Amino acid sequence: MTMTNLERIERLRADTILPPEDLLALLGPLAPEEEEALKAAAREVREAHYGKDVYLRGLIEFTNYCRCNCYYCGIRAGNREASRYRLDEESILTCCARGYLLGFRTFVLQGGEDLFFTDEKLCRLVRAIKERHPDCAVTLSVGERERASYEAFFEAGADRYLLRQETSDPAHYRFLHPEPQTIENRKRCLQDLKEIGYQVGCGIMLGSPGQTKDHILQDLYYMHDFGPQMVGIGPFIPHKDTPFRDQPAGTLDQTLRLLAILRLMLPRVLLPATTALGTIHPRGRELGILSGANVVMPNLSPAGVREKYMLYDGKICTGDEAAQCVRCMERRIASVGCRVAVSRGDAAGFTPAAGQG
Ligand code: SAH
Repeated sequence: MTMTNLERIERLRADTILPPEDLLALLGPLAPEEEEALKAAAREVREAHYGKDVYLRGLIEFTNYCRCNCYYCGIRAGNREASRYRLDEESILTCCARGYLLGFRTFVLQGGEDLFFTDEKLCRLVRAIKERHPDCAVTLSVGERERASYEAFFEAGADRYLLRQETSDPAHYRFLHPEPQTIENRKRCLQDLKEIGYQVGCGIMLGSPGQTKDHILQDLYYMHDFGPQMVGIGPFIPHKDTPFRDQPAGTLDQTLRLLAILRLMLPRVLLPATTALGTIHPRGRELGILSGANVVMPNLSPAGVREKYMLYDGKICTGDEAAQCVRCMERRIASVGCRVAVSRGDAAGFTPAAGQG
């Protein structure tokens, strides 16, 4: 029995899962009224769990040193053109203090895989932030580490962790990353993080080189099965000093459609309208919110280092001050009928995995 796309949308909303051929149909192409029905369903599901609230995460890009060589990434170890920096603890704490005054209640510490930041240093940093801002959540996004390290960060007070799987297909993973990186270790990290009790974010780039619809399907099933609290989805954008410099970027339509599908498959997920989405289209983030997203991550990094954390070409907001970014985001969010919530914005109904960690 074959369904129409409108029926598939309703079935996905009710069951959060569909057989492969039906999910594949929703990946497009869709007729304009189907596209609109998918987004409307995604907005309704978001509103049922989170109302009109959109959460702000203050992103602090604290190091662009990286030991990895991901072929797509502008701060890969092999990029000699990248001008490297590290923020010291004082500057990071200053970013947080400024962010707090602007209404941020989550700080995301993101960086390359920089072992200068030992477990000890990162733990001290997390403790210092939590001491000064006990009402805030701290999110780490520092790549793959040992389980014991993740445990130590969690002990120190880290609440959440972002680690995109990038792709769940082993061959495609190898196409995007040289050895010794493996999808097995990536998934091991995600599993450890979940067991320890973090709110975990995974995710993929849309339109990464070599990505097929079948890969996207695999990722959708993987994520539905894993049950993350957050999913980071943005278009791949080429960077001029990487092996993928000549590859085409992911598209707006594809990204928006996937955001809406994820909202239906993971109704309570925290779903950012990413900076990459805002980079490929001037209203990308607003359109993301209209497709079911409910998080934005303005940059709190000091203006002097922002253009150095260049994961891809053309990254937006590298020249603005944090306060400008917040006002600009507030306007954008209001323009699509939503409002900025001053709160930690934890995942609805989140309870850490019981008896583990
Ligand atoms: N070292 C950390 C943070 C990586 S940067 C980690 O491994 O998790 C955060 C995300 O940016 C990556 O997970 C990747 O999906 C995305 N990214 C990197 N290069 C990109 C590019 N060229 N276009 C779009 N997104 C990119």
